[in-house]
Amino acid sequence: MKRWGEKRYHSLDYHLKHTYGEKLYKLALNGGMTCPNRDGTLGDRGCIFCSAGGSGDFAGNPRESIRQQIASGKEQIKKKTDAVSYIAYFQAYTNTYAEVSYLEKIFTEAISCPEVKILSIATRPDCLNDEILTLLARLNRIKPVWVELGLQTIHEQSARFIRRGYSLSVFEEAVRNLRQIGVEVIVHTILYLPGETELMMQETISYLNTMDIQGIKLQLLHILHGTDLADYYETSPFFVPTMEEYIAFLGKCITQLRPDIVIHRLTGDGPKELLIAPRWTGHKRLVLNKMNQYFKEQDLWQGKNYKL
Ligand code: SF4
Repeated sequence: MKRWGEKRYHSLDYHLKHTYGEKLYKLALNGGMTCPNRDGTLGDRGCIFCSAGGSGDFAGNPRESIRQQIASGKEQIKKKTDAVSYIAYFQAYTNTYAEVSYLEKIFTEAISCPEVKILSIATRPDCLNDEILTLLARLNRIKPVWVELGLQTIHEQSARFIRRGYSLSVFEEAVRNLRQIGVEVIVHTILYLPGETELMMQETISYLNTMDIQGIKLQLLHILHGTDLADYYETSPFFVPTMEEYIAFLGKCITQLRPDIVIHRLTGDGPKELLIAPRWTGHKRLVLNKMNQYFKEQDLWQGKNYKL
């Protein structure tokens, strides 16, 4: 059996301690950008599950400079931890959807903070043109750059349902381009999209096993107030797993997952005040404890059933 510290999966915490020699804390930042799926370029209502905060409900205040957001983020984290090092995480909306000169300004501001060890950027694969890739390559020589791509699913019918707005080939090109410049790629997936069977979700994992990616986020679909998904759920209620069902399915996904892929997230932690369902995800610590216990009882670990 393979272990990553005390965990049966390749956790981000383990990865950071082994690669950087310490725990790093995320500073969720808001660069004040929007998204082509919201500003009318591709669509004006966004992805069906996306909240008004652009999936960055915990990110900083865009009216503050990046320096100020870093300072207030550090202050908050230090109230609860003895943090010394951080990841500057541009989370809200599409964080490469701006002029390259603006991106250079905000990203440079973030990495110029000595305690920031990594620059992490959440974006869409269709918002990474050559100029932006050149900028990321340059920044990656100063401090490691991670790019987080919201793929969610490989299935075209689900991609259409969630209004993702790009095809799988666009994602593949983005991964190739980012890896060519040495940037680490983290892929965001959503489990239990309406209409997706377990087999379909496992097909997404199998596909990602074949890609040159370094990290994954597994997120259970959250239904948040104010989203089109919430309206859809009200008129056409769809299956939402219980905690036990979710944990059992996570077991299947993780045993199938390539062991070197770092798991950045195993459950969602959306804003409680917006969360309609599943309400149990609000107890993140409990979910993780139960999951670790289940893995132990069932003798599961990441990659147990991974086949080349
Ligand atoms: S791409 Fe991201 S920010 Fe844009 S609508 Fe979709 S989830 Fe929201």
